Amino acid sequence: MNQTDNNLVAIENLFKEFVISGSFLDEITFEKGKLIRKRETVKAVNGVNMNIAQGEALCVVGESGCGKTTIGRLVMGLLQPTRGSIHYAGQRIDDLSRDQLIPYRRKMQMIFQNPYASLNPRKTVNYTLSEPVAYHFPELNKSERAEKVAEVMESVGISPKWGDRFPHEFSGGQRQRISIARALTVDPEFIVADEPISALDVSIQAQVLNLLMDAQEQRKLTYLFITHDLSVVEHFGTRVAVMYLGTLCEFGETKKVFSQPKHPYTKALLSAIPKIRTTESKHIKLNGEVPTPINLPSGCVFHGRCPHATDICKQQIPELDSSDSTHRVACHAIAEGRI
Ligand code: SF4
Repeated sequence: MNQTDNNLVAIENLFKEFVISGSFLDEITFEKGKLIRKRETVKAVNGVNMNIAQGEALCVVGESGCGKTTIGRLVMGLLQPTRGSIHYAGQRIDDLSRDQLIPYRRKMQMIFQNPYASLNPRKTVNYTLSEPVAYHFPELNKSERAEKVAEVMESVGISPKWGDRFPHEFSGGQRQRISIARALTVDPEFIVADEPISALDVSIQAQVLNLLMDAQEQRKLTYLFITHDLSVVEHFGTRVAVMYLGTLCEFGETKKVFSQPKHPYTKALLSAIPKIRTTESKHIKLNGEVPTPINLPSGCVFHGRCPHATDICKQQIPELDSSDSTHRVACHAIAEGRI
């Protein structure tokens, strides 16, 4: 997935492993008269290549544990990759120091899933929103800061009169609006939104989604939108990246992927969306469970559950094909014309 002039973010051959075997001493075992070090890791992200174009909303979708949240955190610099690189506007950012990252902290913001946990319960809304403005715009005086905060509060539908209130005085939807305001106060270019509506009541999910879409249009934002909700992807995503067990299996324009899914996993995932005006059930039921990311399957990570798997699937990792840059898929059966 080459970087083009229109790319804001480029993720190249990204890996992230989490060590779960404890300290060095915990990893030492005695086997057949020898001391052996055994290190156990969770392979959360496995060789992902992905680009995010300026102004788009790229949705990353997949079941829980597929690595989508880890990708968002890696892009934001909250986690260090085990291997691979992340570029922002042409500049490599995954190896920058804390100080070197400061300019990117303003341009890149994150909205978290849980508005109850992401706001400091001891701070007023005014404090929560003014603090990042004071940090990133030291040239503004107190009244200019207050004006900026009030303008952002109004834009997300929270009255500036409520600035002296604390998070517990707001509903879940209002708290998420405040979290969005906190991200917007520093005039970001790029936002990672990690399941931003999944903790909210269904009745207000659409309002918050519309707010994010309006903010994108008005502020020319680029989103990396992480979700497990396919109807959100269909509504919101310019392009979609489908992940399974830390691996990218299909990547393309949302309309193409939804109307003509190619990868067997994407087909199964999309078949679960309820269809209006049809009584015919085409739900594809996958056999077995998602394997553990501690011992990844060889070859295609989906081979244990795939109805089209053959020997090559167990041996070789399929690569994303490059014949159509608007809709790419990693599958041996498709490359061989078997499906
Ligand atoms: Fe199935 Fe093989 Fe394609 Fe993987 S590569 S999705 S196992 S057919």
